[in-house]
Amino acid sequence: MSGYTLVQPDCPVKLNQNECPFDVPEELKREIVDEALASNWGRYPGFVPLETKTAIGQRHGLGPEHILIGNGSNELIQSVFNTSVSQGDRVVLPAPTFTLYALVGRIAGAEIRTVHLNRDLSFDVDRLEEESAHQDVRLVVLCSPNNPTGSMIAPEDTARIAEATRGLVVVDEAYFEFGGVSCIDLLDRHPNLVITRTFSKALGAAGLRLGYLVADPAVAREIEKVKLPYNVNIISLIAARKLIAQEALIEERAALIRSERQRVFETLWDLPGILPYPSHANFVLFEAERPVSEIFHGLIERGVLIRDVSRYPMLERGMRVTIGLPEENDAFLDALQKVLAA
Ligand code: PMP
Repeated sequence: MSGYTLVQPDCPVKLNQNECPFDVPEELKREIVDEALASNWGRYPGFVPLETKTAIGQRHGLGPEHILIGNGSNELIQSVFNTSVSQGDRVVLPAPTFTLYALVGRIAGAEIRTVHLNRDLSFDVDRLEEESAHQDVRLVVLCSPNNPTGSMIAPEDTARIAEATRGLVVVDEAYFEFGGVSCIDLLDRHPNLVITRTFSKALGAAGLRLGYLVADPAVAREIEKVKLPYNVNIISLIAARKLIAQEALIEERAALIRSERQRVFETLWDLPGILPYPSHANFVLFEAERPVSEIFHGLIERGVLIRDVSRYPMLERGMRVTIGLPEENDAFLDALQKVLAA
């Protein structure tokens, strides 16, 4: 099998991993560190990290019994696979999407059924519904906004898929803050939904490795049986509790990324030989008439690292650029124009 790999040359402008360009404010870091200093590192975290689960639940108007916390949302996605998928079970995935799902699915022995996006990179809801209705399907994973396309699936369409399948439906909302559409409100009527969120994107804490899932309490209990105990350390648990409360800061930063995304999209749109796709995430997918490797390496030579996604299905001409600080976006747009003119 091929692993999850990343080509990562050293470039001053790093727009390849959809990270947040803003660090956690220093004052907040100090608060977290001060609380960590006052705690006993010789003891395990609480058997259930109730305080942090409660703080996260509150943000969604839900009790802690709906929440599981992970060492990154990837860990929780893996736990959901391990909970629901055995050798030979079917897993339905759109394509292209985040490559980790197929990787984890193959490790679990799943038979992966892919449903290509429509030509405009929207979700093919009719085909997803049809595939998901098969009796051997244990899991459907929908990434919305989708990585690497930036497209979203409407909650009513997710509800149709959840209705059609006997399996669980994971909605990976890693990029929620940049699109503003969530499926969490559907949980009441569709208890087979599992929503995952991360601290790695809008919350600006990828280095801490924190994510969580929101599910029906009965489903959360089953996933908890599979998740390793004490998977998140005491320092991260403190950080999660403090970061989740920073709603105004998160929104202010996400709003800046959204407005920069619009500016980058419009500039790309006006460049001859470049076709950007509308995005609801903190990145923009674009296609080029020129070979991808020429543009990708031309940008690296000019100090800008983006992501070559040309090996993803349907995206033979695709590249993905993360939206960074205004000056980083300017550096990317400027370098791209130079590469195109060369
Ligand atoms: N889901 C999606 C769709 C992503 O793009 C990423 C980051 N590449 C993740 C999850 C990873 O999240 P975490 O850092 O919380 O493991």
